[in-house]
Amino acid sequence: MPEKLIFEISSPGRRGVRFPECDVPKRPLEDMIPKRLQRTTPPRLPEVSELDIVRHFTRLSHLNYSVDTNFYPLGSCTMKYNPKVHEDIAGLEGFKKLHPYQPHEQVQGVLRLLYDFSELLKEVCGMPEFSLQPAAGAQGELLGMMITRVYYEKKGEPRRKIIIPDSAHGTNPASAALCGFEVVEIKSNKEGMVDLEVLKKAMSPEVAALMITNPNTLGIFEKEIRAICDILHAAGGLVYCDGANLNALLGRVKPGDMGIDLLHLNLHKTFTTPHGGGGPGAGPLGVSEPLRPFLPIPRVEMQKGTFIFNYNFPDSVGRLKPFYGNIGIIIRAYAYILSLGREGLGRVSEAAVLNANYLKKKLSQHYDIPYPEGCMHEFVLSGRRQKRLGVTTMDIAKRLLDYGFYAPTIYFPLIVEEALMIEPTETESRETLDDFAQALVSIAEEAEKQPELVKGAPHNTPVRRLDEVKAARQLDLRWSFTGDGL
Ligand SMILES: *Cc1c(COP(=O)(O)O)cnc(C)c1O
Repeated sequence: MPEKLIFEISSPGRRGVRFPECDVPKRPLEDMIPKRLQRTTPPRLPEVSELDIVRHFTRLSHLNYSVDTNFYPLGSCTMKYNPKVHEDIAGLEGFKKLHPYQPHEQVQGVLRLLYDFSELLKEVCGMPEFSLQPAAGAQGELLGMMITRVYYEKKGEPRRKIIIPDSAHGTNPASAALCGFEVVEIKSNKEGMVDLEVLKKAMSPEVAALMITNPNTLGIFEKEIRAICDILHAAGGLVYCDGANLNALLGRVKPGDMGIDLLHLNLHKTFTTPHGGGGPGAGPLGVSEPLRPFLPIPRVEMQKGTFIFNYNFPDSVGRLKPFYGNIGIIIRAYAYILSLGREGLGRVSEAAVLNANYLKKKLSQHYDIPYPEGCMHEFVLSGRRQKRLGVTTMDIAKRLLDYGFYAPTIYFPLIVEEALMIEPTETESRETLDDFAQALVSIAEEAEKQPELVKGAPHNTPVRRLDEVKAARQLDLRWSFTGDGL
C-alpha cells in the first residue's frame, strides 16, 4: 500500500511535542505584525504524534534508492560510492562553524585548504589556474563561456560561434547560448569521434571555441584531441573541455597536456562528493595562461605567509556565486585526493575503465553495441533489437527497477537509437557487475519470450509507470495549498 500523506494520517488534537508554559510577558501579535498581514483562519497543519511522524518519515526513507543501498549505473553521472570518512572530516568543528563573513585572519585553515586544493587540481589536470567558485558542472561551463566572451571582447574580436559535437551533454549548448553565442553542431564520424574534416569545414574567423567532452558521452576517448586543438588554435580559437568524465583519465592523462584552454570538473562525480536531488555540487574551472586574468574574484592567495582574498583583478568577470564556492564539498574532495594519493588516483581510472569494459563484453551478445571497440569509463548499448520485438528502451529501464537496480541513463546520447548509457564506476565489485549483467540478460530473454511482462513494468515498485511529462507539467499535490487552506 502506498505511504499516506502526512495530512492523511493527521488526527485532530494529536500532538508531537508540547511547549512549556510561557515564562516571559506576552505581547499581542498586532504589535509585531500588522493586522492586514495576519491570516484569518489557522493553517491546516497535520496533527500527529511523535511516533506517527518517526514511522512516516522512516518508511519514506526506505523508499529512497541511493548508492548506499544499491548499484547505480547512471551513465555520465558517475554515481560512485562516497566514503563516509569524508563526512566526518567536513563535519569537524573548525569547518562546521565557519562563517563566510569572518575576516581572513580568522579562517587561515580553510583558506589554506582551498589554496592547496587548487594546487592539487592544477597538478592533476595540468592547468595553470583554477576557480573553485562554480557550484555545478553547468555553472563551470557558464563561467568558461563568460570568460571566452570577455577574452575576445578584450581582443577586439567579437567572435560569436561555438562549435559543439552532436554527442555533447545538453548543458554545453545551453551554456553557450546563455552567453549569447550561436551554437554550431557538428556530426560525429562512424567511430563516434569528432570528424576532423567536418570540424575544418565548420571553422571560420567567427568561431570563438569548440566545446568538446573527452572521453565523450559515448565513452570513447577522442584520439585526435591534439589535432583538434591545433585546428582551433591555428584559427585563433579556444578549446573548452567538458571534464565531467575525468573519472576515466585520473592520474593517467592531463587535459592541459592535450592543449585544452578551459576545463571544468565535477567534484560531485569524479571526486566522490555526494550528489543527486539537486544538492550542493562543485564544478571548478581551470584555464590556460592567457585566460587567467578573467577568472572570478575573490581569489585566495598567499602573501607574506598569510592567506588572503585578492579582489584586485580589473579584467575579472566578477563574482560568479556568493562567497567562495560550496566549501563543504571541496573539503570532501580534498580528503579524497589526499587519501588516495598519486598512485591511488591512477588506480581509480584503471578500475573504472576495466569495470565498464567487463560489463560491455558481458552484454555484447544480448544487446546491439553501436560502437563495438573498447570503451573508457562508460559505454552505450542500443535497444533497437528489442524494439523490433515491441519492447522499448523505456520498458527495459522500467523492468530493471523490478530487478532492484537503478536504471541507466536512457535515450542519451541522442545519436544512438534507443540508447542505454551505462557507467558502472570503479567502486563496484565483480559480483555486483555480474548480478546487474544477469538482470539485463534476463530482460533481453523476456523481451523475446514474454514481451508483455517487460512492457508492463515495473510490477514491484511502490508506484507503477508514471506519465513523466504530465507529472512535471501538472503537479498533483493532492492537498490544496491555496484558498482557505494553508
Ligand atoms: C553531469 C554532466 C554535466 C553537468 O554537470 P552538473 O553538475 O549536473 O551541472 C555536464 N557535462 C557532462 C558530460 C556531465 O556528465
